[in-house]
Amino acid sequence: MDKLGVEIVLNSRVLGSQVDTANKQTILTLSNGETLTAGKVIFCTAKPTARTDWLPSTVLDENGYVRVNSDTTHFAAGDIAAWGGIKRVGGALIMGQCAAINIVKRIVADEQNQLEASIQPEQQTLPPFPQMMSLAVGSEAVSFGPDGSVKTGEEVREMAFGDDLGLTRVREVLGFTKS
Ligand SMILES: Cc1cc2nc3c(=O)[nH]c(=O)nc-3n(C[C@H](O)[C@H](O)[C@H](O)COP(=O)(O)OP(=O)(O)OC[C@H]3O[C@@H](n4cnc5c(N)ncnc54)[C@H](O)[C@@H]3O)c2cc1C
Repeated sequence: MDKLGVEIVLNSRVLGSQVDTANKQTILTLSNGETLTAGKVIFCTAKPTARTDWLPSTVLDENGYVRVNSDTTHFAAGDIAAWGGIKRVGGALIMGQCAAINIVKRIVADEQNQLEASIQPEQQTLPPFPQMMSLAVGSEAVSFGPDGSVKTGEEVREMAFGDDLGLTRVREVLGFTKS
């Protein structure tokens, strides 16, 4: 990341921020005792709240996520679902695909009157998700692997995102383009 002019601060958290309106900057205080002067601050590590207040509380866990089985019933997929691992795009795509396949199987089984006869279609199941994440930073990327390894570089960006932040790959996975 150095050659991109990006300095990554690890093992430190932002403890507080103070806006300096006169100079249009923000002073960040870090847990390692350092301060950073920033022109723009985007906070993105806050714990999100799932927008599930419209669902019955019986299907939610204590954090408001939808409790799902490994076949994603209640057919909740992505960030909204209570499932292991870091919430990320790849996991959401896999869960969405699993839920979609199982919904279609149930529709087909229903049309063939199998559900009425208590014959449940074989459901696709989700594997446990390991802790992993890739972040694009300019022309490079940083990846955090299931084994705890951290890798950076253009080859990591190419492997994780291609040339367009993964848009082409997502379109391929969703069947919008030929692979
Ligand atoms: C700042 C930030 C950076 C991130 N960076 C990365 C990264 O580098 N790599 C990575 O893998 N992941 C990253 N993530 C995580 C990733 O964005 C999520 O895991 C992913 O978007 C989850 O997909 P989703 O479809 O489950 O939810 P979302 O993408 O949040 O989609 C849910 C959609 O439902 C809509 N919606 C909500 N409530 C309702 C309602 N009642 N009715 C109708 N529509 C509704 C929302 O408007 C939204 O469009 C990042 C997340 C954030 C916030």
